Amino acid sequence: MTKKVTKVGLLTSGGDSPGMNAAIRAVVRTGIYHNLEVFGIMRGYSGMVENDIFKMESRSVANIIQRGGTILKTARCMEFMEPAGRKKAYDNLQKHGIDGLVIIGGDGSFRGAQTFSNEFDIPCIGLPGTIDKDIAGTDFTIGFDTAVNTAVEAIDKVRDTADAHDRLFIIEVMGRDAGYIALHSGIATGAENILIPERKTNVDDIIQSLEEKSKRKKLVNLIIVAEGDEFGGANELSTYIKEKLPALETRVCILGHIQRGGSPSCMDRVIASRMGYHAIECLIEGKHNVFVGIQNNKMHYTPLNEAVKKKQRINEEWMNIVKILAT
Ligand code: ADP
Repeated sequence: MTKKVTKVGLLTSGGDSPGMNAAIRAVVRTGIYHNLEVFGIMRGYSGMVENDIFKMESRSVANIIQRGGTILKTARCMEFMEPAGRKKAYDNLQKHGIDGLVIIGGDGSFRGAQTFSNEFDIPCIGLPGTIDKDIAGTDFTIGFDTAVNTAVEAIDKVRDTADAHDRLFIIEVMGRDAGYIALHSGIATGAENILIPERKTNVDDIIQSLEEKSKRKKLVNLIIVAEGDEFGGANELSTYIKEKLPALETRVCILGHIQRGGSPSCMDRVIASRMGYHAIECLIEGKHNVFVGIQNNKMHYTPLNEAVKKKQRINEEWMNIVKILAT
């Protein structure tokens, strides 16, 4: 029979994402509701290795649901990649009597959790916290909706200038090697073209389309580029276009870290709350070493050892929508 969990350690790890605080709040309050003790671990796995661990109460998470970032802070911890670092982390958990963990982070953090739980028999539950939406096994990740809405708001503003000056704007959005932010924000802002790592970029097609549009006097154009596109980022694309179409006024805008911060959207607060609640349910019910996702509006649990980056082909239909609607 699986051992009953009584003391839960909670951490945020890897890149931060808006909605992590809402998830922290849900884990702490659901845990306390079930008479568990919940301990906050600072700066991801670093806090485990360095024993930066403190008891959390219901009031510790008051007034945070609307805040971006993470009150537990986050980090990338190299020491945890080594067996000696993980042993240190385990000894520190023992000092507090922690016998279960909830990890809010991306696939890297889940890999760390899986390794740790294999070595030390501590049940771990993951919550997908990443703006990139690049984890297989869930339709949503905590932070994607906010990030994509921030991108849309910014791109709308750039469009005003593009329109006023009849310019081409090439806008680079985040997403590492995943194109979801680019795809969604591009469709939502009526972009002329969207460059994503999941599809091979044909720049000569882009040049041809720009030439054709220029003949038709369609002078305002937005191209959205995912930072991880294999052709390169917005600067590389701009250099190429300027070479081929020197008469076209072209500007580059890299949105950068504004996409990570800010108050989480309603959607991110709600999914973070649902996922946080279910993380505790999993620990109580003995559904261990899984990450909590949502598929078709139902909770979906994927074993941590199967948590991999989502590398899916974006099908032709999406790109057709982009092409037809931007004529
Ligand atoms: P993300 O969770 O956003 O994908 P990272 O890939 O940087 O971010 O992972 C976050 C942290 O998880 C790393 O800094 C490290 O401490 C831990 N981690 C990642 N992979 C492993 C692994 N294979 N073994 C142990 N720890 C890992």
